[in-house]
Amino acid sequence: MTAGPTSPSQVPVGVDPNRPSIARVYGGFLGGKDLYEVDRQVMTKISDAVPEAVDIARGNRGFLNRACRFLVQTRIDQFLDCGSGLPTAENTHQIVQRFNDEARVVYVDNDPVVLAHGRALLEDNFRVRMVGADIFQPATVLENDVVRANLDFTRPMVLLQVGTMHHVEGDHAPEIMREYVDALPSGSYVVFSHFFDPQTPELSAIARKIENVLVNGPMGAGRFRTRDEIMGMLDGLELIKPNAQADPGLAVCDEWWQDGPRLTPLSDAARCIVGGVGRKP
Ligand code: SAM
Repeated sequence: MTAGPTSPSQVPVGVDPNRPSIARVYGGFLGGKDLYEVDRQVMTKISDAVPEAVDIARGNRGFLNRACRFLVQTRIDQFLDCGSGLPTAENTHQIVQRFNDEARVVYVDNDPVVLAHGRALLEDNFRVRMVGADIFQPATVLENDVVRANLDFTRPMVLLQVGTMHHVEGDHAPEIMREYVDALPSGSYVVFSHFFDPQTPELSAIARKIENVLVNGPMGAGRFRTRDEIMGMLDGLELIKPNAQADPGLAVCDEWWQDGPRLTPLSDAARCIVGGVGRKP
């Protein structure tokens, strides 16, 4: 896809080239090229507001990769990746199948570009599936035929909700997560990350600037929530230690290292996204 005017014949079915997409904008910050002009405009607005905002996307993706690498080595071999995003260099199935080539991954997203890319990429990998569904309607995911046919709900699995729940407006995100956690077998894990308002004057100002572009612009969603608000979405889970030094709980994504420590300094923006891995007892 290129920037600038796009003729209808070039636009994939189901894609509105005049509306920015969460998946494409996030993918753009990770170096992806699947962008329309509207996506570039949102990226520019975010970067103008907070030049280091790219560190939020990079921190989030690095956390997802490390958490998958860690969990597949606990011998869990099935992964439900909700809001999977556009393919990047390292996707969940590539990370986990490197350790266990029998691991199964079901990706779920509702973005037509993600679905098209995902299906093309996964054509010859029968242990990976791509499902089009609304992840904020848990029943439609949990009762989906492809999800049920490929994941065994009597054995522990990993649910990924990485960089997704901050796109839920209003206060029902805890209910959505509760429905997912209730459906998971005991011994399952949840990998979770969320935009974070650290509640200090400098860092909250960064959070508000990005939130303002996301919520009041054409994307219409992207909340930076406090630690208590985020913890409210992880009810029923025992969070593991994010790294050797920390107590169990959430951590800034770049500080979540099982085999760390992190080697590079953190920007202020990087402190505005947290992640955690929780086990269902
Ligand atoms: N999980 C990936 C990661 O952390 O690298 C991608 C995160 S990206 C910020 C959020 C993804 O969630 C996008 O691919 C977007 O299309 C998807 N998404 C947002 N709302 C959704 C919904 N209601 N149903 C399904 N997918 C959704």
